[in-house]
Amino acid sequence: MSDLRELYQELIVDHNRRPRNYGVLPSANRRADGHNPLCGDRVTVYAIVNGDVIEDLRFEGAGCAISTASASLMTAAVKGKTLAQAHALFEDFHLLVTGQAEGPALEERVGKLAVLAGVREFPSRVKCATLAWHTLENGLRGEAAPVTTE
Ligand code: ZN
Repeated sequence: MSDLRELYQELIVDHNRRPRNYGVLPSANRRADGHNPLCGDRVTVYAIVNGDVIEDLRFEGAGCAISTASASLMTAAVKGKTLAQAHALFEDFHLLVTGQAEGPALEERVGKLAVLAGVREFPSRVKCATLAWHTLENGLRGEAAPVTTE
């Protein structure tokens, strides 16, 4: 288990240092800003939605390692998915990081996002891990108001 934890930790460090899909997406047709005042994390999520498929997405922002790694992992996980698939994935991810559910079946559904399961032991970090997701959901709904986790 400690080896697994180390691996998970490495993935979080890696995604924090070299975030995937980072930057502005000029042709985005969805966009939302998110803010986690508890930690000071800020994120902007850009997406290109065509029909019900999220064809591309990127993010930019500044925050703690957990929020940046989570946003990076989210963009990699959601790209190419349908809106319904992305929403279902967020529901599973939310269950995982809040500790409302666990187990191999859930971890298989969330894939690499499982590296963030450890935040369930740190309730104040759950908002760091879910900020990008709440922001994405807000952007996909086309709501203009900034997201806050408060
Ligand atoms: Zn944070």
